Amino acid sequence: MSDTSLETIVSLCKRRGFIYQGSEIYGGLAGTWDYGPLGVALKRNITNLWWKTFVENRDDMYGLDSTVLMNRKVWQASGHVDTFTDPLVECSNCHNRFRADKINTSKCPSCGKEGTFGEPRKFNMMFKTTVGPVEDESSVSYLRPETAQGMFTNFKNILDSFSPDLPFGVAQIGRNFRNEISPRDFIFRSREFEIMELEYFIHPESWEKYFEQWRVQSQEWFEVLGLSKEKIKEIEVPAEDRAHYSQRTIDFHYDFPSLGFDEIGGLAYRTDFDLKNHQKHSGKNLEYRPKDGTQSFIPHVIEPTYGLDRNVMAVISNSYTEDEINGEKRVYLKLPAHLAPVKVAVSPLLKNKPELVAKAREVYDMMKKEFGNVMWDDNGNIGKRYRRQDEIGTPYCITIDFDSLNDDTVTLRSRDTTEQERTKIENLRDLVK
Ligand SMILES: [Zn+2]
Repeated sequence: MSDTSLETIVSLCKRRGFIYQGSEIYGGLAGTWDYGPLGVALKRNITNLWWKTFVENRDDMYGLDSTVLMNRKVWQASGHVDTFTDPLVECSNCHNRFRADKINTSKCPSCGKEGTFGEPRKFNMMFKTTVGPVEDESSVSYLRPETAQGMFTNFKNILDSFSPDLPFGVAQIGRNFRNEISPRDFIFRSREFEIMELEYFIHPESWEKYFEQWRVQSQEWFEVLGLSKEKIKEIEVPAEDRAHYSQRTIDFHYDFPSLGFDEIGGLAYRTDFDLKNHQKHSGKNLEYRPKDGTQSFIPHVIEPTYGLDRNVMAVISNSYTEDEINGEKRVYLKLPAHLAPVKVAVSPLLKNKPELVAKAREVYDMMKKEFGNVMWDDNGNIGKRYRRQDEIGTPYCITIDFDSLNDDTVTLRSRDTTEQERTKIENLRDLVK
C-alpha cells in the first residue's frame, strides 16, 4: 500500500480547489462530492482523452449521450428492479442500517447494543422517483444506476441510422446514481458518480478474442493516465461474485492510499443477456442481420467500464509526491502534462511594477492562445507561487523580470526538477509543448 494517507489527498483536494464535500455549508450530504475549478479541469482532461482514445480514434465506435431517467420497463427488463440489491439489516434500538455482509451482526456498530438485528432484507440501490404530476405506480421511475442500458435501448437506432458491420461499439460517459448504504473513502464510493463505458457488440463465437483485446486496451488506458504499472492489478472475478448478467469479468484494481488495492474499472462479458431481455420485454426485434445473408442473431457484448471519479482519484494519488528542496519539504503533483489542470503559470516578478506586469501579460496572452489552460499568478513572492503551482501539478512556471524588458528572455521553471532556465520568449511555446 502507498504510504500517503487518503486524508492527505482529501485535504490537498479541498485546500487547492480540486474536490469539495457536497452541500458543505449545510453539513454536507453523505456520499456526494463537488468538483472545484481544478478538479473539473482535471476530470475534463480525462474524459476528453477517453473520448478521443475510445471513440474518435476508432472507426468502429459510436458515441451516445442517453438520459438519466428512463422508462421503468428498462429496469425491469435489465433485472435491476429485482436483483440490484444489497442485504440490509436494521438495528431495532438506534434504527441505523448496515450492509449485512459488511458488519458483525451480533453487536450494533453504532449504539453498541447486542442482539438488535433482525434478518437481513433486500435493499434496492436505485433511487426511485416519479415522473409527471401524478404520483402513482405508473409514474415510478429511477435514476439510472449504470449507463449501459442506454446503449442497449439505442442499439436498434444505431443499426437503423448507420448499418454498422459487426463488431462495433457504442460508448458514453455519464452520471449514475446508487443509494449506497455506506458511501465511503472520498470519491471512491459515492451516491452520484460518473462512468466511462462502452458496449462492444460481437458474434458470440469470437468473445474470447475481443475480451482479450479489451483487456489489453484497458491496460493501455491506465498507462496513458500515467498510473504506475505495479499499482494496477487484474482480478478474475469468480462466478459466485459476478453480476447476474456476466459470464466472465475481470476487475482492474489500483493501489489507493489507505484503501489498498480496489476497483477502478472492469471488463465484463455480458453475453446477449441485455439485448435478449429487451427484445422480450419491448417486443421489438433487436437482432443483427449480417450483410452476407447469413442468419440473423442477437449480438453478444463485451463491456469495458471505467469509474471516472475513481480514475481521477487514482491519477491524483499516483501523482502525489513529497521531496526535499534545500532542506525544505516540498509537496507536488507529478501529473502527466496532458492531464494537468494548469499547463503553465505566468508571473511578473513584482506585481507593483507596471512595466513588468505589462510584459508578463503579453506572454500570458500568447501562451493562453496556444494552450488555453494557462494561469496568471502574481500572489505572494515567487517561492510561494512555485510551491502553490507545484501542489496543483502545473508542469511549468514562467517568470518575467527586469532583464525580460531588455532582452525578451524569461525564466522557465520545471515542476519536477525545480530547475530554472533562461529562455527567449519566442521559444516558450515549443519548450512547454
Ligand atoms: Zn444500534
